[in-house]
Amino acid sequence: MSQGEESKVLERKLSNPLVEVQKKIDAVCQRMDIPEGINARLRICERELIVNFPVRMDDGTLKVFTGYRIQHNDTRGPSKGGIRYHPDVTLDDARALAALMTLKAAVVNIPFGGAKGAVACDPEIMSQNELERLTRRYASEISLLIGPESDIPAPDVGTNSQVMAWIMDTYSMNKGYSVLGVVTGKPLEVGGSKGRREATGRGCMMCAGMAGEQLGIKLKDATVAVQGFGKVGSAVANSLAREGCKVIGVSDVRGGVYNPRGLDVEGLYRYSREAGSVIDFKDAENITNAELLALACDVLVPAAIENQLRGDNAASVKAKIIVEGANKPTTTEADNILNENGILIVPDILANAGGVVVSYFEWIQDLQAFFWSESEVNQRLEEVMAHAFHEVLEISQREKTDMRTAAYMLAIDRVASAMMIRGIYP
Ligand code: NAD
Repeated sequence: MSQGEESKVLERKLSNPLVEVQKKIDAVCQRMDIPEGINARLRICERELIVNFPVRMDDGTLKVFTGYRIQHNDTRGPSKGGIRYHPDVTLDDARALAALMTLKAAVVNIPFGGAKGAVACDPEIMSQNELERLTRRYASEISLLIGPESDIPAPDVGTNSQVMAWIMDTYSMNKGYSVLGVVTGKPLEVGGSKGRREATGRGCMMCAGMAGEQLGIKLKDATVAVQGFGKVGSAVANSLAREGCKVIGVSDVRGGVYNPRGLDVEGLYRYSREAGSVIDFKDAENITNAELLALACDVLVPAAIENQLRGDNAASVKAKIIVEGANKPTTTEADNILNENGILIVPDILANAGGVVVSYFEWIQDLQAFFWSESEVNQRLEEVMAHAFHEVLEISQREKTDMRTAAYMLAIDRVASAMMIRGIYP
């Protein structure tokens, strides 16, 4: 790792997303005169499970992995949130992401609380067999907490529908019957929902369109840069390209590619699956992630990982709109700079909520054993996203504040009201 790269990793870790999410919750609670006891409940997680478990590796050795399942708050319904496989993931990351899930479910008004799971491991260097053994053991360890009525995981960074199928299978083996509703983001063959794979990306595309309307930018004329080309980034790039946007830059962990005339997004997807990265794609120039974030474009979609827009690079952002496909991609320092520079930010808890909305639809379909058509899923997703976007926009205009603060206000109001009506407070 070069010195520059090392300092970036250090910086990423110095901006602890948990501390920043807690500070934001505190500030919004104060602004709204939320009682102290409720503020105190919102800033910490209700249940935290740490598991250290062995996995037999392909070379016969035994390795111990550490995993987490964190439930932030279940006042409004069962906890819901993804499972991340990433070498650097920490307990605080999982806590922050769980808190964001509570707020996200509340912003789009679906009856879930927030949770997150994680295992510190590197799926890029593990075989499918190793990943399956790790997943099944981790699923057994956290089966104390998960279940269709209590806590429903889904994919996040480093996990996918195959991982969800293994979790569903492990959980079902122990129950003695198939429990489809224990996880979402599953393959269609075992209770997955049509439209779930693209849902987070579609939701981001819808937000980009609605934000564009505020600034007089039409998607069909817009230029776009997307950081991250995994499940979310590739779906965002695809749906925006289908709306007529010119996707001029895309990156992944290894670097990015740029073409001012627009990239062939479908071709890039096929290429990156074979080559393992977007770099060296034909008809495009290689660029760094720093250069991608600073591209002159209408819409920037950070869809990789947290702390990518920071105090040291926020001033270089030239996009007019930022749609946060990733969770917590913007540090508080960067948020202030971007707001001062007049950039319209659609915050993570609204922008990337399409995934949890269609996960909710998947859970409903599993519980009812009655499955919807793709157009029904997409139409309902659009209704939910449009409603939430305009509720947040209305609050931001009325309160003369940015959309992140407005989204936190909407979410905290809903969770706090639910707590009070349940009579848990004080
Ligand atoms: P993924 O593992 O499928 O893809 C992650 C992508 O980001 C990959 O292309 C990877 O190469 C890239 N990346 C990782 N680290 C990077 C770095 N330091 N710089 C540049 N690129 C980097 O993950 P995903 O499911 O697409 O999730 C991406 C983000 O979206 C995360 O913040 C996740 O929490 C959030 N999110 C995901 C979903 C979902 O349904 N999967 C829903 C809501 C939010």
